[in-house]
Amino acid sequence: ALLGGNMSNITKSNKLHGVCYDIRGPVLQQAKQMEDDGLKVLKLNVGNPAAFGFDMPEDMHRDIIRNLYSAQGYCDSKGLYSARVAVYQHYQQKQLPHISVDNIYIGNGVSELIQMTTQALLNSGDEVLIPAPDYPLWTASVKLSGGKPVHYMCDEEQDWFPDIADIRAKITDKTKALVLINPNNPTGAVYDKALLEELVKVAREHNLLILSDEIYEKILYDGVEHFSIAALCDDLPVITFNGLAKTYRAAGLRMGWMILSGNIDAMSDLITGLDILASMRLCANVPAQFAIQQALGGVQSIDNLIEPGGRLYEQRNIAYEGLNAIDGISCVKPKGALYAFAKIDVEKFNVTNDEKMMLDLLKQEKILLVHGRAFNWYKPDHFRLVFLPHKDELIPAMDKMQRFFASYKQ
Ligand code: PLP
Repeated sequence: ALLGGNMSNITKSNKLHGVCYDIRGPVLQQAKQMEDDGLKVLKLNVGNPAAFGFDMPEDMHRDIIRNLYSAQGYCDSKGLYSARVAVYQHYQQKQLPHISVDNIYIGNGVSELIQMTTQALLNSGDEVLIPAPDYPLWTASVKLSGGKPVHYMCDEEQDWFPDIADIRAKITDKTKALVLINPNNPTGAVYDKALLEELVKVAREHNLLILSDEIYEKILYDGVEHFSIAALCDDLPVITFNGLAKTYRAAGLRMGWMILSGNIDAMSDLITGLDILASMRLCANVPAQFAIQQALGGVQSIDNLIEPGGRLYEQRNIAYEGLNAIDGISCVKPKGALYAFAKIDVEKFNVTNDEKMMLDLLKQEKILLVHGRAFNWYKPDHFRLVFLPHKDELIPAMDKMQRFFASYKQ
């Protein structure tokens, strides 16, 4: 017999059926191929600040290096005590109720903590309300954990705020949790207090656990203020997620945390589940945890990047104005985060497949974007642009996009 001829195919598990994370999908494969062929592709597809010359603060480097020798062993599965105290103090300032160092978990990125939470929380068929569009890890993670992602609509006409009536209409007796992403990826929305209070009301009426992903907490434009939903309810179970990847430009450190607040008693059983999962992965990367205290200690600030004249502020404006200047493309002004979620006039371009449109743009102009349906958006009529490149790259990119869309028909 031929070598391996009798071997049956090694298949992936059924658990992965329907689990998808398209940000790193087929269009990216094409981009890789083009790079292998020696072409230069402008990658506006992933929110990775360091790749565009945004460095993490020097003091954070120094603290990691200084502590390397004492960071050789495992630490407590929830994380280094000093790092958790720093997280605790940060949320004390934000006035989160009923918090303690004990109910803080440090993870290898927010990504790991999202997956730990859905694994600890969900039984087969349990439903979780997730925004559409979303950061797709939430949907993928709920699916992988055996739960059912149920998408509620965010309304482009209302600055991409969640549609409360749609949330209410989608609650069933299986709904266990409500996810919000604030500031939002991919829309750039930052929720005001009135909206958050409405969301609290819904969660209270239906006994929902609130899961608030606040990884862009400090990336805010035009003077908008960020409120943590957890500070607005001391009677509900809330888990807030945040980390070093974006605000502190340290995505490669893989450092995130989550903090439980409000009605801790209601989460006591869930906590035993989280503790099991935290122990199973022993602990998060220890050297990187030494950056947390420095990051949250009060000295580090990103104001110079986000205020008028700052690099991110300027790039946000270039992206927003550039997209709206293209005939057939429009976008809501992002108030936070690193992204613009632009609308495509599908009739003008005759678009039925947004992914193909992005593939065509990639082939013609060597610009890599992500199609809207990768964010669990329901129609092929959006794409997301990352406005991290310096204006010297971003301005020509906007010109190229203008050229592409001027003649595009699908
Ligand atoms: N949550 C949101 C909303 C994100 O946009 C991202 C990364 O882009 C993550 C979580 C993942 O963060 P981390 O790098 O900490 O795993």
